[in-house]
Amino acid sequence: NNLEQYDVVVIGAGPSGALASSLLVQKGWRVLVLEQQAFPRFSIGESLLPQCMAYLEDAGLIDTLHDNAAALGFQFKDGAAFHRAGQNTTINFTEKFTKGPGTTYQVKRADFDKLLADKAQGQGVEIRYKHTVVDYCDEPNGASLVVHNEQQQAYRVNARFVLDASGFGRVLPKLLDLELPSNFPVRSAYFSHFKDNISDTSFDRNKILITVHPQYSDVWYWLIPFSDGTASIGVVAQSERFNDDESSDLLNQFIEQDPYLKTLLAQRELLTPAKNIKGYSANVSKLYGKHFALLGNAGEFLDPVFSSGVTIALKSANLIAPLVDRYLKNEVVDFDAHYAQPLQAGVDCFRTFVTGWYDTRFQDVIFYSEQNTQVREMISAILAGYAWDTNNPFVAQSERRLNVLAQLCQN
Ligand code: FAD
Repeated sequence: NNLEQYDVVVIGAGPSGALASSLLVQKGWRVLVLEQQAFPRFSIGESLLPQCMAYLEDAGLIDTLHDNAAALGFQFKDGAAFHRAGQNTTINFTEKFTKGPGTTYQVKRADFDKLLADKAQGQGVEIRYKHTVVDYCDEPNGASLVVHNEQQQAYRVNARFVLDASGFGRVLPKLLDLELPSNFPVRSAYFSHFKDNISDTSFDRNKILITVHPQYSDVWYWLIPFSDGTASIGVVAQSERFNDDESSDLLNQFIEQDPYLKTLLAQRELLTPAKNIKGYSANVSKLYGKHFALLGNAGEFLDPVFSSGVTIALKSANLIAPLVDRYLKNEVVDFDAHYAQPLQAGVDCFRTFVTGWYDTRFQDVIFYSEQNTQVREMISAILAGYAWDTNNPFVAQSERRLNVLAQLCQN
C-alpha cells in the first residue's frame, strides 16, 4: 500500500545492514530492513579483523557474538600466519601500534549474519526476509522503493533515507548507474568447507593462514580454521590461471600444488562441493546521493587477501549512522566530508597493501625476518583492520612508507 513510510529503509541484512539499522533504531528512528534471502544463508567472508569488534561493541552487538561463538564453531583469532616456499611467518594482532581490540573470530557467516540480524531485530528493527528491492525512485522528501515480496507481488515503501547494504547485489549502483570497474584485474576464487583433520601440532588454529603459491606469486590460498575441526579453504588467482575442471577438483589440485598445504591438509575431507566467485572487485562513482548512501560491498570491494571486507562494511555503517541521524533531525550534513572521504581513506590504505601484495612488495615485507619491532607493530595494526588510524605512518603515507620498507627488505 502507498502508506508505508519509514525513516530509514536498509537494503540487505548482512553485516553492514544489521549494524546500520541497529545504530539507527537505537537513536529512535523507524527502520525497515528488506532482505532478499531467508536467513541463515551462506556468505563468503569468514575471517574478521579485530577492528570490527569495536564497531560491534558500539552497537551493543558484541555480547551475542561472545555468548554464541563456541556453540557455533566460531574460532578465536589473534593474528595471521603466512607461508611462502617453505618460509613461515606470523603477525600477532595483539602486538600492534593502534590501541583497541587485538583479537576477534573466524565465523561461519550464515550464523554470524543471523546473530547480528536477530539482535538488531530484538533492538526494534523490522526485518522482512525474502523481500527483494527492485526499483528506487527519488522523491522530494526521500525515496520510494519498489519491493517484491515472497509471492513476487510488488509493493512500495517510502523512506526519508535509504541505505544500500546489498553487498554484491549492488542494488543502487545498478539501478542508478553508479557502477565503475575496479582497477584490479579480474580474479576468481574457488573455496569450500572441509573437515581439515590437521594433526601438525605446530599449526596455530588461532590464525588465518595465507599461503603464496610456490610458482605464481600472485596466486594465494586462505585456510580459515573454525573451532569445530572444520575450516574454510580457498584459492585466489586471475581467472586465466584456472581451467574448466569441476570446482572441487580445481580446488584440490591447487592444494596439492603447494608442498606445505599438501602435507598439512593430507587428511582433509571436503564437506560441500566447492564454489566459485569471479570478478568480485568493484567500484562506484559516488557513495551517496540526496536520499541514499552505499554501505560495505554495495560501494567498493577491493580484494579478499587481508580479510578487510566485513571490517570496511562495518566501518561504513559506523560512519553513516550518526550522519543519517543528524540528517533526519533536519540538520545540514556533509556526506562527502564526513562519510565518503573518511571511509575512502582507510579503503585506500588497504588498496596500497593489496596492490603491494600482488606485485610482491608487501610479500617481501611480510616475509622479511629481521623486521624492526615498531615497524612490525605498525604493519600489524593495519592487518588488524586499523587502517583509519592516521597516527600510524603506514596509514598516513601508505604508498611512500611501503616503497621505502619494501626496498629495505628486498636488499
Ligand atoms: P553482504 O554480507 O553481502 O550482505 C548483503 C545482503 O543483501 C545479502 O544478504 C543479500 O541477500 C542482500 N541483498 C542483495 N540484493 C538484494 C535486494 N535486491 N533486495 C534485498 N536484499 C538484497 N571479508 C572479510 O571480512 N573476511 C574474509 O575472510 C573475506 N573473504 C572473502 C573471500 C572472497 C572470495 C570474497 C569475494 C570476499 C571476501 N570477503 C571477506 C568480503 C566479504 O564477503 C564482504 O565484504 C562482506 O560480506 C560485505 O558485507 P555487506 O554487509 O556489505 O554485504
